[in-house]
Amino acid sequence: MASAVVLRAMGPAVLVAVLAVSSPAVLAQSKDAEPATREANAAVLNGLPFSDRQDFEDARRGFLAALPDGLIAGPGATPIWNMKRYGFLDRDEAPTTVNPSLWRQAQLNAIHGLFKVGERVYQIRGLDIANMTIIEGEEGIIVLDTLLTAEAARAALDLYYGQRPRKPVTAVIYSHSHADHFGGVKGVVSEADVKAGRVKIYAPDGFMEHAVAENVIAGNAMSRRAQYMYGPLLPSGEKGQVDTGLGKNLSRGTLTLLGPTDLIRTNETRTIDGVEIVFQLTPGTEAPAEMNMYFPQFRVLDMAENVTHNMHNLYTLRGAEIRDGNAWSHYIGEALQLFGQRTDVLIAQHHWPTFGSDKIVAYLKKQRDLYKFINDQSLRLLNQGLTPAEIAETLRLPATLANEWALRGYYGTLRHNARAVYQKYLGWYDSNPANLDPLPPAAAARKAVEYMGGAQAVIARAREDFRRGEYRWVASVMKEVVFADPGNREARELAADALEQLGYQAEAGTWRNEYLVGALELRSGPPKLRAPSTLTADTLAALSLDNFFDLLGVRLNGPRAEGKIMRINWDFTDVGEKYALNLENSALTYTHGLAEDAQASLALRRATLDSIMLKQTTFAEAATSGQIAVAGDPAKLVELLGLFDDFDPMFEIVAPKQ
Ligand SMILES: [Zn+2]
Repeated sequence: MASAVVLRAMGPAVLVAVLAVSSPAVLAQSKDAEPATREANAAVLNGLPFSDRQDFEDARRGFLAALPDGLIAGPGATPIWNMKRYGFLDRDEAPTTVNPSLWRQAQLNAIHGLFKVGERVYQIRGLDIANMTIIEGEEGIIVLDTLLTAEAARAALDLYYGQRPRKPVTAVIYSHSHADHFGGVKGVVSEADVKAGRVKIYAPDGFMEHAVAENVIAGNAMSRRAQYMYGPLLPSGEKGQVDTGLGKNLSRGTLTLLGPTDLIRTNETRTIDGVEIVFQLTPGTEAPAEMNMYFPQFRVLDMAENVTHNMHNLYTLRGAEIRDGNAWSHYIGEALQLFGQRTDVLIAQHHWPTFGSDKIVAYLKKQRDLYKFINDQSLRLLNQGLTPAEIAETLRLPATLANEWALRGYYGTLRHNARAVYQKYLGWYDSNPANLDPLPPAAAARKAVEYMGGAQAVIARAREDFRRGEYRWVASVMKEVVFADPGNREARELAADALEQLGYQAEAGTWRNEYLVGALELRSGPPKLRAPSTLTADTLAALSLDNFFDLLGVRLNGPRAEGKIMRINWDFTDVGEKYALNLENSALTYTHGLAEDAQASLALRRATLDSIMLKQTTFAEAATSGQIAVAGDPAKLVELLGLFDDFDPMFEIVAPKQ
């Protein structure tokens, strides 16, 4: 049965892809846990404090109501959200195909509904990957973060209204610039109410730039890679997706965006709808624009996404700029100092609360030290000359951090975060000149396999290693055989089997997804994409024209543009912005204002450009219908438009690109 899946990656603001996947066929290919995997997973049970059930108590505390099966119906057959697919997590003992530590986290993230956190403070959890927090003000309610999609946010708000007075939303606060915290805004307020000043929207300084621009330029690649990290195309189940670590999954509705009316630019205290809020800005931490909030009346501290019940990412596997572990630690320390002793409930915009001042202080200290440890110890080893893989292999958390459930690597991991620190400070090159300019993957793989005696010899030896449970090595060496010959079925199967066992052993939800998606694509190839799009109307409208021309530059096919020189004026009549676009040396540059020596000049409305970007119309149609007025040589425009690449949204990852 084919089902349509709409993926919106949570970090990148503007990732949408509609995909088709055949789930039962995928499931049929999944293997059982090998003996080495059973052993590794059994060992986890003895290594961690599973008898400590405090998190389950905290995650259920204050429960008021839930949607039956957590079901939010959609317009089509695919629901916006559905917790029934995670019913398999009911069994206490982890199956052999799931790391027991991840199983525990997946069970915690399956607890969903409306919860009373404290006087006048409520949370809706488990109806999307993130939480919605509601603060009851004097006139109405303040909605802190609006989930990823409007449908999920609407359902969350309705769940609240089912138990509490139906007071209007007086304010929205975005804790940070990631889409799973703002994308549902139109589900809780209307654009008209915001425009009329009836609802204010607060966000940290720099919110809009980071919410949109950051993820557009590399958007196609991030979107594709996010399919590996979150596993939206994997069937859920004991041999499939169980969790992302940070939450269950991504809701499948409409991503919306309303810009903030009020930016928080300094650490300041504001009274919003009668509620005093102390803002602590934390730029350059989990997100480039983020803030924590303290509510003195309620003795509640909201740590946004800076402190959650897992180790977070200094590097996120979908691909992004490296985050600063030192700054992250610093701001947690500052929050501890400012609010720790004055806090009875610590909440965040993912996961469940922590109750009690003593516990909160201890929790904040350990979170502070976790990020400092990763940053500083990676730097220590880097300064000893260790390379990224060596640092990842060497680093161990001290026992005082390693045995804390809230610090386990369910989303970020110590291994990939350690590599991130290296990348932040030293970049991709390890200074070994043999790695400066090696052959590219497929060419190197062909040589390596030939040197090793050919594919059959490599596969035979790798099978022995597979039986011994050496999955990391088998995955590496089979990658060589697949890259040398992507048509080698036997190699693909063995490569997939190795990745699958690694997935079954992984403690991180993200690693499990990465491995299982890799296995799936080695077996069946990348899923067929039906209607790719990387932009939505709201996020596109928030894109500046500078962003647009930068994106256009990224799409320019350099070789095709070779030798061409063009200058084209663009006059956006409705917004009064003018650009001169310059093509020379296979580089597309622009200046503000019009050029006198342009070969062609276009006059159009910004809205027309947006329609073209959304593929509702084309340049040619818009020119024919008069929506674009062309002066000068219209052939120049046609020529320019012929120079841009369309990106393949489903490019190969586990096999060489054809
Ligand atoms: Zn988030």
